[in-house]
Amino acid sequence: MSEWAQPLSPSAKSQPANEPAERARELDAALRTASPPEVIAAALREVGRDRLALVSSFGTESAALLKVMADVDPAIPVIFLDTGWLFDETLAYRDTLIDQLGLRDVRSIRPPDADLDRDDPARELWFSDPDKCCFIRKVEPLRRALSPFAAWLNGRKRFQGGARAEIPVVEADGVRLKFNPFANVSREEVAAIYTLGKLPPHPLLASGFLSVGCMPCTSRADSEADTRSGRWQGRGKTECGIHTMKTS
Ligand code: SF4
Repeated sequence: MSEWAQPLSPSAKSQPANEPAERARELDAALRTASPPEVIAAALREVGRDRLALVSSFGTESAALLKVMADVDPAIPVIFLDTGWLFDETLAYRDTLIDQLGLRDVRSIRPPDADLDRDDPARELWFSDPDKCCFIRKVEPLRRALSPFAAWLNGRKRFQGGARAEIPVVEADGVRLKFNPFANVSREEVAAIYTLGKLPPHPLLASGFLSVGCMPCTSRADSEADTRSGRWQGRGKTECGIHTMKTS
């Protein structure tokens, strides 16, 4: 594992903040069987709308969480990491969902050109060091984007397996609460949200891309049971690092 895959240490200043971890345990116990809208409403009560963000990739399953969020409060800020390597179809899908769901505050975050010119001048890091590439294009930009927020929502589900099989409903990433409203949701329930909400599929889903990320690191999935098998295929990597980072 390269140094870029290691969790970021909280700063000395944030070190005493054991509080989010304790509060996360309390909230997780209270919300263990809660529905996704109940979890989102609890997150809003906990920190308020101005201190809560949802992080979305606008990928193949993202519309379900965005729909539930929009039904609770469409003005919750949505952070979208535009790495510079995304498919045009994903950017178009983001715009379609903004219109259809009435999302009022979607923030597309790009890595600074100066960082890319310094760390990835040939734009080949995705091949030579994908952990470092994810670090400069996803982890660092997200860490900066989350700095005004006290809590964030994301769409991971236990049925996705791997490191996601054991996620709680509420956890802490260091100094912030992290809510996983879909932790308990099944594949069938996600599909039902798409059907009932008349949500459009991601444009690449029909071509066999069951999980869509950056263009160089996304392939067709091996099987429907393992939707993430097309991510970093053959590279010994299954996550980008944003879910193991410690924010400060
Ligand atoms: Fe780079 Fe691939 Fe990570 Fe995207 S998914 S940031 S292209 S290594």
